[in-house]
Amino acid sequence: MFDWIINVISSMKINDILDILIVSIIIYYLLKFLSGTRGWQILIGISLILLVWLFAKILKLQTVVWIFDNIWSIGLFLLIVVFQPELRRGLAKLGESGIFSFITPSQKKVIDDIIRASLFLAERKIGALIVFERNINLDNYTEGCVKLDAEINLETIIAIFTPQTPLHDGSIIIRDKKIHSARCFLPLTINPNVPPNVGTRHRAAMGITEETDAVALVVSEERGEISLAVDGKLYRDLDALTLRNKLLKFLGYKERNLFKKFKDRLKKGKKK
Ligand code: ATP
Ligand code: MG
Repeated sequence: MFDWIINVISSMKINDILDILIVSIIIYYLLKFLSGTRGWQILIGISLILLVWLFAKILKLQTVVWIFDNIWSIGLFLLIVVFQPELRRGLAKLGESGIFSFITPSQKKVIDDIIRASLFLAERKIGALIVFERNINLDNYTEGCVKLDAEINLETIIAIFTPQTPLHDGSIIIRDKKIHSARCFLPLTINPNVPPNVGTRHRAAMGITEETDAVALVVSEERGEISLAVDGKLYRDLDALTLRNKLLKFLGYKERNLFKKFKDRLKKGKKK
């Protein structure tokens, strides 16, 4: 056994090492990307099935092996269908260079209006759910909503979420610089690690950000706190400044940092 290992290692070429390295990196990022999501549980399920298949092969269980060998190709298609949200999110992230989307003053105003409205609602313990569309189109989730195509401003957002009005239930969806629709019902997260005291509004925020690359802002009517959901994770009880920084960051304006570094470098250069 030991000799065999030495043999394998000594006969390895540089491209074999590169091969192993690239595969390890891909597996590492795949596991990291899936951990804690719905895909993670599916991955565990698949690993169990593979284990059964391996045992069946070792024990020469002809029929079981035959079934597995024949459903393999169907399984691959099923896998693509089941992992479609994760695949979409992953590909969108890969293609997101971030270099070309600068934040404009009007985008900043949209964010600030939404923050001010959220603070107003939180102070009065009025629940709200605001979903920001990013690269993945949210048309799949807007079918049952009320279409608005309204300009974003403080008053409109407050009016929408005011209780006992026709649009206050569910979420609004922000596309570009407009309120695309209201009273949308979103998929709830099925993550089993969510604490039981997290209600459906927060679960819906997590659900939509698991299935897509959207960002969701939640105002809690119970606690009057503001949370943000991204990639299925919930950042709870944020103060105004953290909320603003996170929104600027998550809404794809990463290049601000790039720009800042560039400006800092220019400043340093001038001082010298
Ligand atoms: P809160 O902290 O505000 O109480 P919560 O997370 O505890 O929020 P619930 O108390 O269950 O959640 O909030 C119910 C409200 O959440 C509903 O009236 C509705 O407006 C909204 N909501 C519930 N489910 C969904 C959904 N699937 N999509 C969008 N909004 C939803
Ligand atoms: Mg509640």
